[in-house]
Amino acid sequence: MKSGMLAAETINDALAAGRLHDDLVEYEQAFNNSWIYTELYQQKNWGPARHHFGEILGGIFSFIDINLLNGKLPLTLNDSQPDHAATLSKQAQKVYKDAEPINYPKADGVLTFNKLDSVFLSNTNHGEDQPCHLKLSDNDIPLKHLSEFNDGRSEPSLFYCPAGVYEKIENDSGEIKFQINSQNCLHCKTCDIKDPAQNINWSIPEGGDGPTYPNM
Ligand code: SF4
Repeated sequence: MKSGMLAAETINDALAAGRLHDDLVEYEQAFNNSWIYTELYQQKNWGPARHHFGEILGGIFSFIDINLLNGKLPLTLNDSQPDHAATLSKQAQKVYKDAEPINYPKADGVLTFNKLDSVFLSNTNHGEDQPCHLKLSDNDIPLKHLSEFNDGRSEPSLFYCPAGVYEKIENDSGEIKFQINSQNCLHCKTCDIKDPAQNINWSIPEGGDGPTYPNM
């Protein structure tokens, strides 16, 4: 939100100065001078430290780096593996005990809610006739994934999408279809980043609109 405000202020200042075609390099400067940069810089080793050294040693490293040194350790740890390559296949899940599918308790409707109820409560809405903004490079890959991930129970997107956009449908004759309910999309962009085959392409919805949140 704050970075959006900085961008809007930069654009506004440029328009007021009649600079219609300039590169707005001052946005980067404004970002680097803001508390967003300070906070992100301070936390830069948090995730990679746990990936490199494990939960306990990584936690100790992060505590010293963030809490005692305020993120000023002259060292930046990087993750060499992209996020989408970290999704474990069915074969790999048999090797890593901590990667077994989690069976969450059913939503109780009081403190916890299922995905579709949560999407309904968010009041997200897209134009009925809007073209689907989630495109597959290869339509067959999600069905192939059904046998490669989660013991054949599910294509990974059925788990990580927080809005139940991706759905496996089986008709009476046992034929399985992969369906995209783009109306429900909350635009978190997880599918674009996390899909193991990098087969899902999230694009900006029609007119750059994004969803409508009537309650906001
Ligand atoms: S952007 Fe987020 S909410 Fe939308 S389909 Fe992808 S994972 Fe689901």
